[in-house]
Amino acid sequence: MCEKNPAELLKEQLFYSPEHASYFCSDDEIKAADDFCVGYAEFLDKCKTEREAVAFTKALAEKEGFVPFDPAASYKAGDKVYYENRKKALILCVFGSESLAKGAKIVASHVDSPRLDLKPNPLYEDNELAMLKTHYYGGIKKYQWTAIPLALHGVICKKNGEVVNVCLGEDDGDPKFVVTDLLPHLDKKQASKPLEEAILGENLNVLIGSRPFGKDKGSEAVKLNIMKLLNEKYGIVEADFLSAELEVVPAFKSCDIGLDRSMIGSYGHDDRVCAYPSVMAAFAAENPVYTTVTVITDKEETGSDGNTGLNSAYLEQFIADIAKTQGLESRDVLRASECLSADVNAGFDPIYPSVHDKLNAAFINKGIVVTKYTGSRGKSSTNDAHAEFMAKIRNIFDSASVAWQTGELGKVDEGGGGTVAKYIANLGVEVVDVGVPVLSMHAPFEVVSKLDVYMAFKGFKAFLEQK
Ligand code: MN
Ligand code: MN
Repeated sequence: MCEKNPAELLKEQLFYSPEHASYFCSDDEIKAADDFCVGYAEFLDKCKTEREAVAFTKALAEKEGFVPFDPAASYKAGDKVYYENRKKALILCVFGSESLAKGAKIVASHVDSPRLDLKPNPLYEDNELAMLKTHYYGGIKKYQWTAIPLALHGVICKKNGEVVNVCLGEDDGDPKFVVTDLLPHLDKKQASKPLEEAILGENLNVLIGSRPFGKDKGSEAVKLNIMKLLNEKYGIVEADFLSAELEVVPAFKSCDIGLDRSMIGSYGHDDRVCAYPSVMAAFAAENPVYTTVTVITDKEETGSDGNTGLNSAYLEQFIADIAKTQGLESRDVLRASECLSADVNAGFDPIYPSVHDKLNAAFINKGIVVTKYTGSRGKSSTNDAHAEFMAKIRNIFDSASVAWQTGELGKVDEGGGGTVAKYIANLGVEVVDVGVPVLSMHAPFEVVSKLDVYMAFKGFKAFLEQK
């Protein structure tokens, strides 16, 4: 063993340099992280849409003793309730031993992910191929959605009130679907276009069939055959698409990435990689001092608008309702509350280093990313967490041995993005973004590090367990 020289010792004392979490963790903790991710992988595979994530989480919460919130009831420390918003968003709440006058500890993530939604009138036939028209949801790179196996998830609501759940393409033996692409032999014009113009949104049409109904040659016999199969399976007619929400998502399952199995590849890490750890943290943080509020929301990927998104009143109204059970005004609770806006950030990709400022980029395996601000250009359209709150979060994470790092979303003026942070901050709550770094964010197949997923759980739990 060689001794560290004075310069090395002083650097250790004075410099900031987050390191790979595996240097930071014991072997037992690395094992705990790998084990934690087994549960996460199941969540990924069973919850590809916001509705599925909410239903799955609600069932887990009920097993943990959470019951539907009753605004007229009175609650004592340790009581666990949930509020479900239109099957697309869910709030879990555990009452603390302190009064809500001292504020709530909120962790908010989202469970919608970029995808292709079917249009209201999607089914058509062209040259004896049956296709479904789509309208993409969230920020996608359109070329990534061609020539991969796709599944169809969602609901069809009939006029008589019946709701049919659809999940096609997930089970072994299920048929799958695909958006076809041009062969390289004939793509000379396509290949010379900028990436974002090479595949048009209007051309993201999903192949769903190719065999006609019966032997009577007629027009739209392939479409008719598909409609007949849908009618047999779900009892629907074409007009029922008008009141359906059908989402086209990648049909593949999550899997380990790397010979060392250190990473997970999957559809929809953004933002299930924060949602799952936050829910597990809400379950694990028993008998909290402060009331904990864990939100899994919808509509983040399209800007949080709509009444299941966090740019609507539902969180504020829930806080008002729980405040009322203690005879408090919601504004007093909100002012005293703190929130981790739990969302992913871009992981530094050595293939594309130029978009990042290395000093302020997040790296996979260096733990969760505390993102002081997002936005674009001159910090436009963002919450910018206060230094005082940043200091508090540093202390919470360091005290709980959470591996964490800072991260900006790319270089200045390189692009940008946003999270739910600003909407919650606008309620008067103290907010900062904290989440897991992701490679290939918004691709049909994104990559995260298992150690980072586990650090999200540890970090959220430490935040909820504040004394
Ligand atoms: Mn996100
Ligand atoms: Mn996103």
